[in-house]
Amino acid sequence: MNREARPRGEEMLTLMRDIYPLCRSITGEGVRETLRALGQHIDLTIGEIATGEPAFDWQVPQEWVIRDAWIKGPDGRKLVDFTEHNLHLVNYSAPVHTTLSRADLEPHLHSLPEHPDWIPYRTTYYHQGWGFCLTQTQRDALGDGPFEVMVDSDHIDGSLSYGEYFLPGASSEEVIFYSHVCHPSLANDNLSGLAVCTFLAAALTQRDLHYSYRFVFAPGTIGSISWMAHNRDKIRNLRLGLVAVLLGDRGPLRYKQTRFADAQIDRIVPQVLAERGHDVIVEPFSPYGYDERQFGSPGIALPVGRLTRSAQGGYPQYHTSADNMDLVSAQSLAESLAVCEQIVDVIDSDFYYLNTAPLGEPQLGRRGLYGNTGGQKVGDWEMAMLWVLNQADGTNSLLDIAIRSGLSYTEVKAAASNLLAAGLLEKSGST
Ligand code: ZN
Repeated sequence: MNREARPRGEEMLTLMRDIYPLCRSITGEGVRETLRALGQHIDLTIGEIATGEPAFDWQVPQEWVIRDAWIKGPDGRKLVDFTEHNLHLVNYSAPVHTTLSRADLEPHLHSLPEHPDWIPYRTTYYHQGWGFCLTQTQRDALGDGPFEVMVDSDHIDGSLSYGEYFLPGASSEEVIFYSHVCHPSLANDNLSGLAVCTFLAAALTQRDLHYSYRFVFAPGTIGSISWMAHNRDKIRNLRLGLVAVLLGDRGPLRYKQTRFADAQIDRIVPQVLAERGHDVIVEPFSPYGYDERQFGSPGIALPVGRLTRSAQGGYPQYHTSADNMDLVSAQSLAESLAVCEQIVDVIDSDFYYLNTAPLGEPQLGRRGLYGNTGGQKVGDWEMAMLWVLNQADGTNSLLDIAIRSGLSYTEVKAAASNLLAAGLLEKSGST
């Protein structure tokens, strides 16, 4: 890890700590407050899609307003309190105020016997209902009741909010980074993705970009579907993308392939992971997961892969109160960000080139591009130039050359840049 990495990791942790307490959902003020917090780092545009608007086969749901929720025992003491932890309430719960026996309350309770001190995360987006999540320890101590139950919530005609940040490059062709924004107080899933994508966007503002880059922060599933349905013009310009989520835990990075399995992004991410010394963990596409599956639906058919650390369901703390700020580290966040930056570096420079002196090997020594002392072993530096010159016939991109030669993309790109400067190479097209 380089010396600059830790401060950025710490900065991302600070952002996550600030937004951790907010009660996000698929709609509502918690999402807007989160987007405004990200907007402190990048010039984020907040879009709103009205309740009831069609979104392909779906409809934009009502906005959830949550003010308070609790369960009180017979002595009036709060036994479960939403204001203590927003996971205590099943997300998107309908309003209720009633008194129930223990038996009648039971179907509305969720706990994890195997982890008695963790609160589970549950939602009821598409089924009108209410419920409470509590630790098994709390549940065991509830007593017989009766219980006064109160959920002070509303479902109103409002809108679904999303954040968007667009960085124009030389080309109007776009690359998308998508991160879901709908989870309440859960750190790795999904605050880490928000932090990494926000800091990636901020870092890219410093670069001269070939492609245009679009960052979208929206709820899972309904968010990406609604965003696509209402931004058909933008989808037309997308060439590839990455869903970048669950990037802060201490597990290894892993890449999930696009539905095409052999798209450019499917080759770029493993190359970058290998070059940065990571084990190359690649999962095949599956139509389940996060928003990559919406971009990979047959009518959209965009090559959008997914970068995570411990993936969905792949760690015991997943979707529980134990997915908290202790689960994520500055170092993991910083390395995830560095990997994303290097992925962009490859996306933005992977072009086709032509050797301008293709008859025999050009004389590199005369141009100061080759070691002066004969008889020495040819180094990676020279090998990179020889590979580029040999393969630069307009049909092999720099990434193709890196993969075929076994050299790093970084070396191949540097060699191409030297050969360009020496007039031995010319750009023949983008990938
Ligand atoms: Zn999740």
